[in-house]
Amino acid sequence: MSTTAKGAQVHIRCSQCGTFNVNSENCENCGALLSVVKQRELVRQEQFKEVRKREAEKGPSKIELQIKKMQNHRFWLVRAVFEVVYIGWVIAMAVGGFIAWVIAAIVA
Ligand SMILES: [Zn+2]
Repeated sequence: MSTTAKGAQVHIRCSQCGTFNVNSENCENCGALLSVVKQRELVRQEQFKEVRKREAEKGPSKIELQIKKMQNHRFWLVRAVFEVVYIGWVIAMAVGGFIAWVIAAIVA
């Protein structure tokens, strides 16, 4: 055990086994993580990993695959029509989003 300056010691009671620990991140008795901040951080990291894993398992959606297929179509007219429709759709979404924002701004 290392000795530290008086007053700098932090006593943390282990939530798992009730042992009082001094200046330690992990419980000396059972090894449980003592810092609440670190515990929250770990939980958040686990949740983030879980979300990423689920998205990776799902893979690209049917729509995404269809878009990729259309973008690489052999016939240029299909690509051109698709581009126009796709760009039009993106613009429509942007305009729709803007209108929704304006309405929200007026109501608020
Ligand atoms: Zn413990």
